[in-house]
Amino acid sequence: MSATLELAKQLIALPSVTPEDGGCQHLLADRLQALGFSIERLPFGDVSNLWACLGEAGPSFCFAGHTDVVPAGPMSDWNTDPFVPTEQNGFLHGRGSADMKGSLAAMITATERFLASSPELNGRLCFLVTSDEEGRAVHGIRKVVEVFQERGETIDYCVVGEPSCSDKLGDTLRIGRRGSLSGTLTVKGVGGHIAYWQRADNPIHKALPALHKLTIEQWDSGESAFPPTSFQISNVHAGVGANNVIPDTMMVEFNLRYSTELTAEEIQQRVEAILSNEGIEFDLDWHLSGEPFLTEKPELIGQMQLAIQAVTGMTAENSTGGGTSDGRFIAKLGTQVVEFGPCNGTIHKPNECVSMADLEQLSEVYERVLHGMLTTG
Ligand SMILES: [Zn+2]
Repeated sequence: MSATLELAKQLIALPSVTPEDGGCQHLLADRLQALGFSIERLPFGDVSNLWACLGEAGPSFCFAGHTDVVPAGPMSDWNTDPFVPTEQNGFLHGRGSADMKGSLAAMITATERFLASSPELNGRLCFLVTSDEEGRAVHGIRKVVEVFQERGETIDYCVVGEPSCSDKLGDTLRIGRRGSLSGTLTVKGVGGHIAYWQRADNPIHKALPALHKLTIEQWDSGESAFPPTSFQISNVHAGVGANNVIPDTMMVEFNLRYSTELTAEEIQQRVEAILSNEGIEFDLDWHLSGEPFLTEKPELIGQMQLAIQAVTGMTAENSTGGGTSDGRFIAKLGTQVVEFGPCNGTIHKPNECVSMADLEQLSEVYERVLHGMLTTG
């Protein structure tokens, strides 16, 4: 069995439903300590975080990832036990196999092979691992980054092992993520009997033109590396269930996935202006679940592209798609952040699995990037 597959299996066999670490970081720390890494644990609340470093000076290159996994869901939906790693037709099955214990294993074995080749390190090599990516993401990387900001710790380059690829390993390199801003809008009116509508003020009728304006608004130029920012309504509630009653309020939930052309504050102001201009009375609660980030500098992206091309023969698309990830917090340190990992077709689903051949190639990509970023020759 390959070293990468063996470690991936060991990690899957340690159940670590978010924010549990299940002993995974202990396993990773042991491997890194054996290579000479200094180990620092940064626990916050019920979350385990691991910071491991090798080397003293120079630019720092960091592998980042998470040991926690989403819950398995109903066991009856699984063909195998989610916490018993199982090989089937070239795939390794188990919760976390693709998101992202396979990537963590590939990072460790890439580092082991890289260091075995006795390279002259031209910088620091670090690992940043959390157990709070899939959950509330409060005591994980977000908190660690705060600590790093306080003590002036820098990370120049960071590869996050999130499963970035869609159909084939090597098809997608993530270089940024959109921000995510949600709102709960309550439109106020005056309720009443539908037969006496003159005495009521129908909040649904008042809201519709404003909502239409919000859905057709052009939020940004759409010329950045991001898809255009869009306003999407997810839930609408109004009415008491009877067909002869005008309700006194209407509740609308919406979300914007937005680019680095905008800030959350700008969007909030524009939404509120559109609502006010329509003359409606409203309450609005905002929830910012993730700020956007974008890596524009070419060093790390270039090395990743070269490594992906050499190992897989693919030219990866530089993408900013997908949901939010821990990359957004790390980018606050001024870091060039990219995300590269296995195909994501089964993540967060029953029967999550990863191609075992892809895991080997992934480890090779990581190893080449280490040579590209941390050696001079
Ligand atoms: Zn993940």
